[in-house]
Amino acid sequence: MAELLKGASVAKAITERLREESDALKARGVTPVLAMVRIGEREADLAYERAALKRCEQCGVAVRRAVLPAGVSQENLLRAVADLNADPYVHGILLFRPLPEPLDDAAVCAAVSPEKDADGVTNASMAAIYAGTRDGFAPCTAEACIALLKHYSVPLDGARAVVIGRSFVIGKPVSMLLLRENATVSIAHTHTRDLPALCREADVLVVAAGCKGLVGAEHVRPGQAVVDVGIHTNPDGSLCGDVRFDEVEPIVKAITPVPGGVGSLTTAMLCQHVIKAASR
Ligand code: NAD
Repeated sequence: MAELLKGASVAKAITERLREESDALKARGVTPVLAMVRIGEREADLAYERAALKRCEQCGVAVRRAVLPAGVSQENLLRAVADLNADPYVHGILLFRPLPEPLDDAAVCAAVSPEKDADGVTNASMAAIYAGTRDGFAPCTAEACIALLKHYSVPLDGARAVVIGRSFVIGKPVSMLLLRENATVSIAHTHTRDLPALCREADVLVVAAGCKGLVGAEHVRPGQAVVDVGIHTNPDGSLCGDVRFDEVEPIVKAITPVPGGVGSLTTAMLCQHVIKAASR
């Protein structure tokens, strides 16, 4: 039976540390503040907002909410972001994305001040990740994968890592973060030949394909740690990932459950970024 890499215990440990850090900041007269910019009332945004609000409260991060009407113009949205950039009491900005059509997601992300980029959406943050420095903010989900692996002491230095997915939000940044930890990283995608064989070479397999049940018994071997980033809803309303858990779990050494794995950690990463920004 594989060890379950559960996110909740990691999130709890990080939350306790962040609470101490935010208390220390408050003692110096600085309250870390996250501004959340939401457009309209989409259920996915509201769900993430609820989770983020709860985590912020636990971590001692104050929240400012900017709720703009569905149909807000690009100009008004950019003005709202500019106001938050200029506000000295705001340390981090979270945009609920993807932005609804026809808003220009890339242009709005580019407008966020890199110093307040709590969700790692700016090119400056991405450049820092590629440079291997700790100056920028990684996208929260990508960073959550690394935090989870480190918490459970999964060896990364010198490990062979395979990441399935090359998106800007997860696949690419998590690959760079693994490289920073001295793993030897391969990035697999839809054009990769013989994906099962490549995956079996990995010591650490990160699956972020957004493809329900993509990874099964044929992709894994004993001794591996598997991080499943995918989230999908089954017809009965339950959640599952990109990995066929029932097939893979009996074979590998360690695996994240879905739900209860990486997803439980993203809001803790968000708070970590706000506190880091406030400390600067
Ligand atoms: P995306 O669609 O932008 O990227 C998916 C990547 O996977 C692409 O680069 C594609 O080349 C690759 N891919 C797709 N199918 C493949 C296949 N059959 N074989 C090999 N490669 C394949 O998705 P994303 O935004 O990176 O998200 C990935 C998954 O993570 C989604 O299921 C999403 O819901 C989930 N997600 C989870 C969290 C979390 O907190 N756990 C946060 C964000 C996204």
